[in-house]
Amino acid sequence: MISSTIALAGNPNSGKTTLFNALTGARQQVGNYPGVTVEKKQGTFSLNGREFNVIDLPGTYSLSAYSLEEMVARDYLALEKPDMVVNIVDASNLERNLYLSLQFMEMGLPVCIALNMMDVADKRGISIDIEKLSSLLGVPVVPIVARNGKNGVKALLESFSGASPQLPPVSDRKQGADLLNPLVSISYGNDVDEALMEIEKIVVENRFLTDRYPARWIALKFLENDEQILKLALEYGHGTDNGCPCRDCEHRMLPCGVEQRESDLCRHPFFQKIDQILFTLTQHLEDTIESDPEAVIADHRYGYIRSILKQGVVSRNYNEERLQISDRMDMILTHRLMGPVIMGFIIYALYYFTFNYSERPVAWLDFLFGWLGGTVDTLLPDGQLKSLVISGVIDGVGGVLGFVPLIMYMFFFISILEDSGYLARVAFMLDRVFRVFGLHGSSVMPFILSGGIAGGCAVPGIMATRTLKSPRERMATLLTVPFMNCGAKLPVFMLLIAAFFEAHRAFFMFMVTFISWLGALLVAKFFRATIVRGESTPFIMELPPYRLPTVRGVLIHTFERTWQYIKKAGTVILGISVLLWAMMTFPGLPDEKADMFENQKREIIESSPDEDSLFFALDTLEKSRAQAILQHSFAGRAGKAMESVSEYAGFDWRINIALVGGFAAKEVIVSTLGTACSLGETDAEEPESLAKKLSETPGWRPLTAISLMIFTMFYAPCFVSVVCLSKEAGSWKWGVFTVVFNTLFAFMLAVLIYQAGSMMGF
Ligand code: GDP
Ligand code: MG
Repeated sequence: MISSTIALAGNPNSGKTTLFNALTGARQQVGNYPGVTVEKKQGTFSLNGREFNVIDLPGTYSLSAYSLEEMVARDYLALEKPDMVVNIVDASNLERNLYLSLQFMEMGLPVCIALNMMDVADKRGISIDIEKLSSLLGVPVVPIVARNGKNGVKALLESFSGASPQLPPVSDRKQGADLLNPLVSISYGNDVDEALMEIEKIVVENRFLTDRYPARWIALKFLENDEQILKLALEYGHGTDNGCPCRDCEHRMLPCGVEQRESDLCRHPFFQKIDQILFTLTQHLEDTIESDPEAVIADHRYGYIRSILKQGVVSRNYNEERLQISDRMDMILTHRLMGPVIMGFIIYALYYFTFNYSERPVAWLDFLFGWLGGTVDTLLPDGQLKSLVISGVIDGVGGVLGFVPLIMYMFFFISILEDSGYLARVAFMLDRVFRVFGLHGSSVMPFILSGGIAGGCAVPGIMATRTLKSPRERMATLLTVPFMNCGAKLPVFMLLIAAFFEAHRAFFMFMVTFISWLGALLVAKFFRATIVRGESTPFIMELPPYRLPTVRGVLIHTFERTWQYIKKAGTVILGISVLLWAMMTFPGLPDEKADMFENQKREIIESSPDEDSLFFALDTLEKSRAQAILQHSFAGRAGKAMESVSEYAGFDWRINIALVGGFAAKEVIVSTLGTACSLGETDAEEPESLAKKLSETPGWRPLTAISLMIFTMFYAPCFVSVVCLSKEAGSWKWGVFTVVFNTLFAFMLAVLIYQAGSMMGF
């Protein structure tokens, strides 16, 4: 029996696996590609006396060498040479999907297009002229609905067996040198085309990889800065032994260690020539159109696809009824001018509702913690234990837990935005802004995950930067996502806003968000102009249709996130809070100071005329004694020592301790201020909210709060984020850089604001 191999390839979610299952049924096996964790699915079936091996390739949007999936798919196609590539194309998203198809064709592969999701396209009022598409692309195209397993799949199978007239019989497959003449040859504009031809010539002369790929494709990859091809080219002609055995190398005597191999001295003239062409072209494009080869190539590919689609291949039924509700909503919600205005309005409304609806539960929680403190006060005897429970645990952790209702409301509204599909629109709109600052459309999601609107976390945000292909754009994103207002910074802002700007809470929260974005984008721009300079890469984004969020879904999301917050407060924050309490309590007063307070106490008792004034005088004394202990404690002294620098930003020793603690976790800023204020007072009989205490602390002004908010926004990310960032960036140096850079940057801003504000008399 004749046996042929078929590879199913296409974008993620185009329906490869669905088709694979429909074709092979139970006759499949799952393994991994050698050496990597990418899943490899293989199966078999027979038709008309012919045996077919089918392989389900990983889904990709492109065939660059950026991601593992792309490398696996590309290597498989180049090295295993399947007899037929069945390219699954999502008909409802033709333009984007054909981008990959084009690359298969450029690779000279025998391609056949399975136009899937025809049902979805129908529903959206998109009709496609299959024959026209097929003849314009020069490959067979069959419409299918992989999910029903029926529609068109049969026709597809027939084309496999050679029944389709447009398809060469499987046995006549082009091999080896024949690949030098691929079917499609897109023009990339004069400049690029010329360079392509020159490189192609050099590639053919040197027979560089020509057994695997068409020479033009290899030339294209050079222009696209393809890592794999560049690496192979660099190694080309060099054996593995020392002494540079290649015949053409001018520097035979040099030992070809890795570093030297990469130096200009020891490069093969083959590579030097190509490098020269690349350099000239890049320079020229930069000078003339301020672009780079990679972007020009992507642009022309899309141009090519669009020109094909415009020739009557796709027609949309734009009659009112069939225009999807989603599309109609997007005409308003993502409108160039109205879109951003509506977005601002929605975010403002989110803060407004959050603050207003959470007022009561926040008051209940304040009352609860106040009552708890009072109860413990009467139950426990005076001493260190009581101080630990009240000041360390209840006032510290309670300060953080007090914000649970606010956090919950915020997550609730964000879950609605997320589940309805609106958040994707936010990303879509911000993409335009992001390009201006040297970031990429794919940077938006990491920013939102990190708390771009409110209450995310930098760790998933940092992880999400993996979707960015360009290393420079990724690095710029990685270094700036920690500026967003994560769920741990929120209570800090909320506390300070409640303490000093009670009347304009929503407005201040809105400004906090705005400033953090502005800061992040400006810093990103700065990075992109200095340490990670380079061109931008193109971006394509799909918008999922709007959905009505389900109550269940929203509640689950809200609960999950709120629970995370509570759990962290009960574990990590509790631990740090106790530690900081100890640092703020010990070593206690030195003997002579303690004696001094004892003497004063005796004097007061002896000299007081009546009960009331005695009580009042003792209370005042006790307060200053507590203050003295706090200031003399390890943390107090450290905080004091820092005042000589921090006073420029308006930070007193309490804030200094809180900020140092905040490096462990940002919530600690709140818990530390809670503990510090609690230790400085004595009677728990009149419980006051922390916000109230802060607003009454001497030396604290609204300007102090603003300076502190700005500093909190931008200074070093918490420890966990730094670890995660270092790992993703590939070096500890980046972690250290972030800590130092962000803290200096934040301090500079805080000083600027505090000094300018003071001068203007705030
Ligand atoms: P893969 O990522 O390319 O392997 O895509 P899958 O085969 O996993 O399919 C992605 C999703 O599209 C699944 O939910 C499928 O059920 C769905 N799907 C696949 N083919 C069709 C189709 O022809 N029509 C519709 N409406 N959905 C499909
Ligand atoms: Mg799949």
